[in-house]
Amino acid sequence: MSTPRTAFESLRLEHIGRSFGGHQALVDLNLTIARGEFIALLGPSGCGKSTALNCLAGLLPLTTGQILIDGKRVDTLPPEKRGFGMVFQNYALFPHMSVAKNVSFGLQMQNVPKEELRARVAEAVAMVKLTDYAARLPGQLSGGQQQRVAIARAIVTAPRLVLMDEPLSNLDAKLRLDMRGEIRRIHQTLGLTTVYVTHDQEEALSMADRLVVLREGRVQQVGRPEELHSGPVNWHVADFMGYRNLLDLRAVQVRGNDVHLSGAGVELMGLAAQPVRAGDLVKVGVRPDDFKVVGPDAAGFDATVEVVEYHGRDFAIDARTAGGQVVHLLSEQALAPGSSIRVAASPSRVLVYQTDLEPAQEAAA
Ligand code: ATP
Repeated sequence: MSTPRTAFESLRLEHIGRSFGGHQALVDLNLTIARGEFIALLGPSGCGKSTALNCLAGLLPLTTGQILIDGKRVDTLPPEKRGFGMVFQNYALFPHMSVAKNVSFGLQMQNVPKEELRARVAEAVAMVKLTDYAARLPGQLSGGQQQRVAIARAIVTAPRLVLMDEPLSNLDAKLRLDMRGEIRRIHQTLGLTTVYVTHDQEEALSMADRLVVLREGRVQQVGRPEELHSGPVNWHVADFMGYRNLLDLRAVQVRGNDVHLSGAGVELMGLAAQPVRAGDLVKVGVRPDDFKVVGPDAAGFDATVEVVEYHGRDFAIDARTAGGQVVHLLSEQALAPGSSIRVAASPSRVLVYQTDLEPAQEAAA
């Protein structure tokens, strides 16, 4: 089972789109996936992630575009002819079949000889650490164990592509963490190519080689985890990447990429992540961990602590400026509600974005 037998060099999604009636669920998705890559499709509920995955799987016909493997079209093939493995949110195991039987089903369909089948099933079941459970029925397993059966079933046929749709969404937080590592390990051990759908940015950042962020059916950004984490291309991606402070401020002065920002009691220096002009109203993204509490005479702005939550290693603080702007920050010290603090951030961690244009402005632009 070591290398997928029908491995490809590249899988290309060219201008793929899918509409439901008049509603465009996925618009002009272009992506080239290299063999062995782990790609996460990420975005809020309804952004088109599952639609994209189902189009890849062949469960949904495309409205536009094509899918090519090493230059050959596969979007015209039915799902079973594409040679992909799939793991869905609801594991869809056969309830009356043992773990081993569930896992062997795909191989039986391929008429794999008995001895080889037995060996490959044992290997796949061992890989997901369920050897001792091979004779059990799905109903006798925990959610996490069932999830692992679903993964074993998807990988046992050594598919050229594994598609996973929020496979960890039904698990508790600890199991989810364990399974993240497990899926990543199996992906690497078997040299699989994986497309993984999630709305959880941490999950995507920790597992994927590249992330594709979708919003309202359109790709916003494609990049490596560190690229998306530190350089979201617009405020929507920033929002999704944990820039919890998205402040509506005025760009008072712009020199090159350096922007002096002001509004509602906040004074900051920031970095233009999109072109902005002096006088523009802008969206300013700052992660809570990039806001620091500084001495009373340091550059920054004043705020009053309103909410303090203990988060294990540090405290999550909500503070409000005199102008009414709430900012979220992390502090190693327990600050008392009602106390006055001075807040600052390194300009390179204050990202300045254009606000969205109103539809009328967009049409005129
Ligand atoms: P979630 O994270 O909630 O599963 P998602 O990002 O996977 O969301 P999709 O399921 O791809 O989103 O849906 C994208 C859009 O297409 C949504 O607006 C959804 O309502 C719509 N949609 C999906 N399937 C259908 C369908 N069969 N008929 C009509 N509209 C659909």
